Amino acid sequence: MSEKYIPYGRQDISQEDIDAVVSTLKSDWLTQGPTVTKFEQALADYTGAKFAVATCNATMALHLACRALGVGSGDIVWTSPNTFLASANCARYCGADVDFVDIDAKTYNLCVKKLADKLALAKQQNCLPKVVIPVHFAGQSCDMAAIFQLSKQYGFRIIEDASHAVGGEYQGKKVGSGEYSDITIFSFHPVKIITTGEGGMALTNSAELAEKMRLLVSHGMMRDATKLQDCSQGAWYYEQADLGYNYRITDLQCALGLSQLGRLPAFIERRQVLAQRYHEKLSALPLQLPYVAKECLSAFHLYVVCLNDPALRTQVFAGMREAGIGVNVHYIPVHTQPYYRQLGFKWGDFPEAEAYYHAAITLPLFATLTDADQDYVVQTLTRLLQ
Ligand SMILES: *Cc1c(COP(=O)(O)O)cnc(C)c1O
Repeated sequence: MSEKYIPYGRQDISQEDIDAVVSTLKSDWLTQGPTVTKFEQALADYTGAKFAVATCNATMALHLACRALGVGSGDIVWTSPNTFLASANCARYCGADVDFVDIDAKTYNLCVKKLADKLALAKQQNCLPKVVIPVHFAGQSCDMAAIFQLSKQYGFRIIEDASHAVGGEYQGKKVGSGEYSDITIFSFHPVKIITTGEGGMALTNSAELAEKMRLLVSHGMMRDATKLQDCSQGAWYYEQADLGYNYRITDLQCALGLSQLGRLPAFIERRQVLAQRYHEKLSALPLQLPYVAKECLSAFHLYVVCLNDPALRTQVFAGMREAGIGVNVHYIPVHTQPYYRQLGFKWGDFPEAEAYYHAAITLPLFATLTDADQDYVVQTLTRLLQ
């Protein structure tokens, strides 16, 4: 092992970020205070969405989104197999059944053609999904206009899992604008584009969905006198209207988030530059490099290369790790996890996602990655592929 270790992703915390958190620590509100509201408003303004509800992480935001859309036992939710576990688990929390739509071999996003075919079949068999959760893999949006069109034809709702795509664009609009979906989810985990330590956000243009998520994020409790069943008791009085949770984020985290949001354009720009550098320096190697769709600006959460010869993957991966480069693999197809196999899925069910998985390596990409460290990654990969 060499001394140096370059991770695949990491946060960039500035002195301003630190000062913002410290000043919140000295304020009256550590949680449920004005900084949470400010962060929500700032993300709504940034994306163009009408409403934003902040949560303790994106997984819980996905759960709230499913609950707000009425997902429950007997319902079916579809997502991509090439995602983090949470995109599927959120439906299981609600007691719903999960199924997957295989990916496109070029974008690694859920394939719209396969979605259309699967919907046509599901309609015949009377098992249409209630909700589809497209995942904007590596930071590049799915073809949302096409998925939206299918949602009108078949009557399903859409939650965008945009955990990777904070700051990304689709058709010239920010991911999260909600043009083609009901709810969009962001993650602020430290490996993502901006961070709050742990944290998430649900964005929507629907006042009704926003109100439901707002209620569920804090125990299902209401204090608004105009909405209470009984408002004669006194100023202390509250009612629990639904079975909610404590999925709240803190003001400390939102102070960090607000400060990070101000730096988001610079983060995206640096990630774009680094992606372009990888693209140029790796183009002669026996690899499939990330495909950039014309209608998208990718947030480039991940830079994934696929080896033309998947038989070399284990060896190349080990060689990179030995050289102090924290390569990773995103993702092990969700349907192959023991939990999902026990529900009836098996290897072979989604061949594109599996073929992709066997060839993929995630290279380091984060805003503070230096040109010199990136060049070292390129040199090491070049050596291992020779
Ligand atoms: C990171 C991630 C999540 C979960 O985010 P948390 O904030 O860690 O809960 C969900 N979906 C995808 C695609 C992710 O990458």
